[in-house]
Amino acid sequence: MNEIELTKKLISIPSYVDKTTDESIMVRFLYDYLKENLKDTEINLQKVEGQRSNIIVSKGNPKLLVVGHIDTVQPRNGWNTDPLRPIEKDGKILGLGANDMKGSLASFITALVENGVPEDFMFLIYIDEEYDFLGMKRFVKEYKNKIKPNFVLSIDGGGPNIGYGCKGCIEITFKVLGKTGHAASPLSGINAIRISTQAVNKLEEKLNKLGSNELGKSTVNLAYLKGGLNLDEDEIGKQGNNIADIAEFVIDVRTNGNVDAKEVINMVIKSIEKQNGKVVETKIRHNLSFWKTDQKEINWLKSITKEKYSKCNFELPFGYIDTQMIWEMLNKVNCATFGAGPGGNQHASDEWISVNGLTKTKAIYKEILKRKF
Ligand SMILES: [Zn+2]
Repeated sequence: MNEIELTKKLISIPSYVDKTTDESIMVRFLYDYLKENLKDTEINLQKVEGQRSNIIVSKGNPKLLVVGHIDTVQPRNGWNTDPLRPIEKDGKILGLGANDMKGSLASFITALVENGVPEDFMFLIYIDEEYDFLGMKRFVKEYKNKIKPNFVLSIDGGGPNIGYGCKGCIEITFKVLGKTGHAASPLSGINAIRISTQAVNKLEEKLNKLGSNELGKSTVNLAYLKGGLNLDEDEIGKQGNNIADIAEFVIDVRTNGNVDAKEVINMVIKSIEKQNGKVVETKIRHNLSFWKTDQKEINWLKSITKEKYSKCNFELPFGYIDTQMIWEMLNKVNCATFGAGPGGNQHASDEWISVNGLTKTKAIYKEILKRKF
């Protein structure tokens, strides 16, 4: 199969995650495909959870590590075509995961098959990137002290631009207690909802004061808030004549590196206590740091890309990407993201990838595979 046929094939295999579907069929297909098409190469499954596995392709002592995920988001509403049935139209292939990132996988795998696997190489094909990062976490846990590549390429990106960093992602749940009182005199109590929102505002002010850097400034999003009168374990009074004495909220902080989860928790606790409330529970769901590679170190990739695309810039991806975990595990090794492009609508209906882009990207991947690291 060429990169175009393989993109279509991968789109036709569902790899989103819900109660009945996961990446298993995709893993089986790719494992067989790689076994059949790559010679003198180790191809192993790395068990992640239940039937769900990563695939690791390797040869020698890896100097170049390439990573890409095989899961997609769940199909959303609003598709004009069947998301699992690839359609080629006007120089584009439409289908779920076309842009994020089955097109890139197909381009890279085809480059690998046509070029042959280079010496000292590893390719991680992993699961659960769009959900809880289970695949990447599993890989990092096992390979932390085992490999020492000189360069890491994530093929999860929007070509022709090259990603070189991202903000970190911190998610924390807080449970806050106040004191109830008579609603006719709101200040007779300590309103847990009110002090919570004020604490979040204060946190935002503090993050603003910490300032901006190449990654922008750290931001905070109040993602969830629930509160009222604390009746018992699961019951919250909703009546207007109460002063809310319990609140629970979730914040998502995108850090440029100047704050971590512990510091965020301390700031919120201080602010709640200043308002005479009490934080009784904190739960960290994510505490992921930022990632940034010096552009000078990856200029060579820009030069290769510029031979195929007249316009190619370094850019910071919009959200958190788990290349960061590898960057951290490998002591800030040089990393970059470069994917098949142009494409659009990732995570939305009518997702697409350019046919021409697939072929150009394959050629760029081949150049990378020929390079010494
Ligand atoms: Zn992706």
